Amino acid sequence: MPTLFISDLHLCSGRPRINRSFFGFLEREAKSADALYILGDLFEYWAGDDDLGDPFNAAVVAALARLAGSGVPAYLMHGNRDFVIGDAFARASGVTLLADPALLSLHDQPVLLMHGDTLCTLDQDYQAFRREARSETWIRNLLNRPLAERKAAIEALRRQSEQEKRGKPAEIMDVAPAEVEAALRRHGYPRLIHGHTHRPARHVHVVDGHACERWVLADWYRAGSYLACDESGCHAVQLSGN
Ligand code: MN
Repeated sequence: MPTLFISDLHLCSGRPRINRSFFGFLEREAKSADALYILGDLFEYWAGDDDLGDPFNAAVVAALARLAGSGVPAYLMHGNRDFVIGDAFARASGVTLLADPALLSLHDQPVLLMHGDTLCTLDQDYQAFRREARSETWIRNLLNRPLAERKAAIEALRRQSEQEKRGKPAEIMDVAPAEVEAALRRHGYPRLIHGHTHRPARHVHVVDGHACERWVLADWYRAGSYLACDESGCHAVQLSGN
């Protein structure tokens, strides 16, 4: 049975079509998988595990818990929008949180999983923000604020980031090839799977004579899509009928 990979769903209550796709995917495709890996940005944003009571969040958590209950292990890596997902979320949903990067052996092949934002080193402003925002102090200060205030602050931050992105050249928003090669070298020339850039593709990087496959996962804005991998390799699958 294949192992499935998804990322960048950006789930929120205001996107019913994507939500239907996702719930359908968990009920059908994911149920017959070996395992499901969610490589970040499952949510449009996550304000903190004290928001698990929100009806939409509760529905997502319940759907993930049904998958885990059916015996399919599910793993979740943080994205840049949902990096304060914590242990309470993991317990409620039955998913296992994964560090970024995570090097695994899947179907006897080494696979490196990342969200992908750490590869975008040409965007120095973002990398500086990321270093600050992933510090314990920053996260603690955020989570200490009342939930409603936190949501408003995150939404303001998102609007600001959308504005800034519009002014940035396209290549700055993509991975830096040198950073990809460094990561492949550091981890022993694995296959790399990541999301974040919303530029779904299969690339091959030749690093020190090793040909390494790099799969970029699709976002779910247009249509749902997942990557399926087994012993024979990986292929991207578009979800239809949503
Ligand atoms: Mn992202």
